Amino acid sequence: MTRKETLANVRKILVKVGSAVLTGEDGLDLNIIEQLVADIAALRERDYQIVLVSSGAIASGKHRLGIPGKLKNIPQKQAAAAVGQGRLMRVYSNAFGKHGLFVGQVLLTMSDITDRKRFLNIRNTLFTLLEWGVITIINENDTVAVDEIKFGDNDHLAAMVANVIEAHLVINLTSTEGLYDHNPADSKKAKLIPLVTEITPEIEAAATDEGTPVGMGGMKSKVLAAKKVTAFGIPYIIGPGRRQGVLQEIMDGKETGTLFLPMSDHLNSRKYWIAFTLRARGRLFIDEGATAAIVADGKSLLPSGVTQVEGDFVSGDPVTCVDPSGNPIAKGLVNYSAEEIRKIMGLKTGKIEQILGYKDYDEVIHRDNLAVTIQPDGKSKT
Ligand code: GLU
Repeated sequence: MTRKETLANVRKILVKVGSAVLTGEDGLDLNIIEQLVADIAALRERDYQIVLVSSGAIASGKHRLGIPGKLKNIPQKQAAAAVGQGRLMRVYSNAFGKHGLFVGQVLLTMSDITDRKRFLNIRNTLFTLLEWGVITIINENDTVAVDEIKFGDNDHLAAMVANVIEAHLVINLTSTEGLYDHNPADSKKAKLIPLVTEITPEIEAAATDEGTPVGMGGMKSKVLAAKKVTAFGIPYIIGPGRRQGVLQEIMDGKETGTLFLPMSDHLNSRKYWIAFTLRARGRLFIDEGATAAIVADGKSLLPSGVTQVEGDFVSGDPVTCVDPSGNPIAKGLVNYSAEEIRKIMGLKTGKIEQILGYKDYDEVIHRDNLAVTIQPDGKSKT
């Protein structure tokens, strides 16, 4: 599939821009922001819908307060974000205002979207903002996020938001041209990779871990995010954020940055949510027959396929399903607790009531609640 074909039906774009693009020696780089905003406004003119995930709060706050060197600890970072986030929004609001566009601010933590109800509420809000033509600007809610509820970096945040808004394309604007085969900082021979059809171990190895002095995620976190987004069937582009008109260039189908093609066998929104936002509470080991039924035929998991239960979980909890060779193959929400599954594993569905005294469900995990995380050829989607 060519770039043009991949982008032909795209209308809703999630643009993520990092601190390394937005900030310079003097804090927020107002010229770059004006340039980016003009680029987004031009796409709006062309009827594209845009949601922006923007970093820059911590870096801007730190500069605003005149704090030299590195911020020492998490409270300092959170306090700097409290100062910088307001400033960031004012700058965006002014810049978009010049193009007759309104902005809306949404600050999220991971726990806002692991709860299905809150996930759906946020989704409704974001869809309404899109309908109103407002440019929504999203950032991590840095001032309140603690480790357990953190996205960690905005590459991850953007990958999760792509699912919430059901984006057709994610463009991650960075301080480099795209993904290189080697770290361009180490090797002059490093070549830009224009197209990634599959995220192989080689591609993952090409992305180094280092973040920039102001951004959290390095290239590695961008490639990990690409893996998630493409597993949801969304193409992903890593492109040069400081290039004037880069977004229009990309939408014109030019060979800019690195395009990751969506996986052909992808997950729907709810299953993506199960696979990527929920933390498994336990593991179910399943036999070969059940593995094949789940992976190849999209079947539910029945008690007869379970061979071992690990962990302590209750009905409704997320668990990982593991095949006989020990590979995780799916994540799903269980209909029965760990204790109940230990009693009914290996048995025919007809026996459930006899053993437990009741039978609320035929399946241990219904296929609607089961996200297969490997592809038919056995490669992991995650
Ligand atoms: N949320 C952070 C900020 O706005 C940035 C996180 C990141 O760089 O990934 O400052």
